[in-house]
Amino acid sequence: MLSAGDPLAHVYWNVVFKNMRRDASPSTILVTVDDRKEWTTADQAELLEKLRRQMPRRVFFDLDIPAGKDRAGDAALRQALQSFGDDLAVVARAGKVDDFDQRSFAMPSPDAIGRTNVVVAAWHSNFVYFAISAPYVVKIKSRDYPTLSAVLAGYRNGVESEYYPDFSVDPQSIPKVRSADILNGAAVPTGLAGRTVILTSLERVPPILYFGHRLVPAVALDIAGAEGLGLPFSVSFGAFGAIPILLLAALMIASGARKQGTLKLAWYAGTVATVIVLPIALRKQGIVFSPDGALIFLVIYGSVRLWQKRARRIQLTSAAGLPNLLALTNGTMPVGSDMVVAVVARYEEMLATLPRDLHGDFARAIARRITAGSGTETIYHGESGQFAWAEEARPLETQLDHLEGMRALFASPLQIGAYTFDTNIHFGLDRNEGLDVPTRLNSALASANEAMASGRSIELFEASRLAEAPWELSLHARIEEGLRNGEIWLAFQPQWDLTENRICGGEALIRWNHPTRGAIAPDAFILQAERAGRIDALTYWVLDLAISATLALNARGPRFQMSINLSAQMVDKADLVRNFAEITRRRGIDPSLLTVEITETSSVRNRPAACRNLTRLRELGFRLSIDDFGTGEASLAYLADLPSDELKIDRRFVARMSTSPRDRIIVANTISLAHALGQSVVAEGIEDASTLQMLREMGCDCAQGYHLGKPIAFAEFERDYDVSLQERRWTV
Ligand code: C2E
Ligand code: CA
Ligand code: CA
Repeated sequence: MLSAGDPLAHVYWNVVFKNMRRDASPSTILVTVDDRKEWTTADQAELLEKLRRQMPRRVFFDLDIPAGKDRAGDAALRQALQSFGDDLAVVARAGKVDDFDQRSFAMPSPDAIGRTNVVVAAWHSNFVYFAISAPYVVKIKSRDYPTLSAVLAGYRNGVESEYYPDFSVDPQSIPKVRSADILNGAAVPTGLAGRTVILTSLERVPPILYFGHRLVPAVALDIAGAEGLGLPFSVSFGAFGAIPILLLAALMIASGARKQGTLKLAWYAGTVATVIVLPIALRKQGIVFSPDGALIFLVIYGSVRLWQKRARRIQLTSAAGLPNLLALTNGTMPVGSDMVVAVVARYEEMLATLPRDLHGDFARAIARRITAGSGTETIYHGESGQFAWAEEARPLETQLDHLEGMRALFASPLQIGAYTFDTNIHFGLDRNEGLDVPTRLNSALASANEAMASGRSIELFEASRLAEAPWELSLHARIEEGLRNGEIWLAFQPQWDLTENRICGGEALIRWNHPTRGAIAPDAFILQAERAGRIDALTYWVLDLAISATLALNARGPRFQMSINLSAQMVDKADLVRNFAEITRRRGIDPSLLTVEITETSSVRNRPAACRNLTRLRELGFRLSIDDFGTGEASLAYLADLPSDELKIDRRFVARMSTSPRDRIIVANTISLAHALGQSVVAEGIEDASTLQMLREMGCDCAQGYHLGKPIAFAEFERDYDVSLQERRWTV
């Protein structure tokens, strides 16, 4: 894991040290021997003698010793070496980098050098053999030998770690003197007195790979090593040196993630700069940290972010390449703007006639027209033909005129390739500046769809409709309250037996007189109660009151049949039958006095359970009536499936009977059909005498409608009922 960044670190340090160069300290000077000459031990002894006269502070003898050919010369050299005492050491080099085996070192024989000190030079390298560090001491044949750089830097005793060369030292800048000059006794310009001399052959040992310079004489590396040790610190963490910079980069990225816009960009750029520059600055102080871990992290992080950005861009773009509605809701609206949505009538149909590759053109052509009309560059595109944008807010009249004007732009046909389309667009407008973008978009979308459905050109989203939402949300509590304080009450509408010409029963219809909202239509709040999960409570409340009314009315004489409505949401409930049975038993009423009106709607979730429940209710004695018969929802199929006793012809047919012969035929045949199936028939919505007369002639059993009596409160109903019993007719 840790070495994954080595190639990066390698390139990094090479680039750094190619560009960062300084001169070597003048205190160490190289005396280089001429390799073309055949050196003998006598020559070397002579050179040492001449050197000594220049009074160097100390000497490192970094030459091969050609001993064994000339006894006298050997003895002279041995003596010359020893004559320096502790101020001279012979250098033994390792054969190659990373080879610390004792056989690797060219150790001089004691015969040749006597008791002279020996130092060694050996390096660790990276994966492409560039030297990177060296130990302070090397153990050879159980003896510790200090390394040349360490000794040059003044370390006599070993340290249990590694040191790192200062590669900024330019190898070319190391002062050099040719040995010939010393032998000739020529004056050395700078002098050697008091300085450290390395007596070396630049070609004796293989050159070594040095950051920023490639191959250099090995001795240059020893000097760079000493210079590295001379920096204020000499600290390194080996391979772990990548971790602190990596952590720093991660921290900086994490804190940058909270920033916005250009500041964020600047922060990220700063992070990259820090990762690149900090290791250089620290290394100048002798602290070796490497940036590779952090660089890898930044590269991975950067690619992931770019990839995410790309994915996000794709996510926020419609198939036509326009920004989509999600992009709109993710952003903000300019201050002082209305949200406009345009929907194109029969959009899908038009797409269907176009080849796939022209779909984008089609959407873009529409967007272009909108831009031409509105001056807004950015048009957001929903895939099913909605186009949304922020339009500068104007006074309502002006805005409506403006949109009408845009609509006129669409009067000329759109030309897409070889296809021509007549387009018709409808606008939805939301002017609720204070609301959040998704809400406004939804409002404008809903209004645009409404405009399209009703064929109007523009629909304005009414803020008052928004007030509805919280009301609906708190309906739960309001129904409880309405039931408690009498705002919710039960009305009764009479049903008339057409053969006996008397009241035979009534329908219980719920009412809500809201103190501020006035009379709320039952269809509306029943729907909301269903949504709010309050329909059960309401139904049992109705059932209970209806039973009280039925008991009271039946106590007066002839049989009175009471109808109650059962919401489609309830017919499949598991506890429905048990509750109905329990209530009728507790109230001591004969269930056959109660007619349960059911409307088939698609909202019945569990159809088999609904059928089972209704069958069970009928077995308990309740009468079942199919309400709104003839409308799409209560169809013939329903009649065939359900065990029922009664069929209520929907008032839509009844109301039109007097004017439409067609409806008359439908009603007459429905009555025959019902009778053939053993059902009794109730016609509802009778508003005049002629309709009543027609129904009577058609053999309809029972009638209900404003002509015979409106839904009224029980006290009133009771009074009227008493009168009708006495007079044997109902007063209208
Ligand atoms: P529905 O069951 O079809 O009720 C008949 C509706 O027709 C009632 O409207 C009634 O007032 C109205 N109506 C009666 N005669 C005439 C007439 O001659 N002309 C006209 N134009 N209308 C007439 P309402 O009371 O507004 O009730 C509407 C719907 O609300 C009912 O339709 C029923 O589906 C539902 N509903 C009412 N009360 C309850 C209830 O207690 N529980 C349930 N689940 N639904 C109820
Ligand atoms: Ca009904
Ligand atoms: Ca009805």
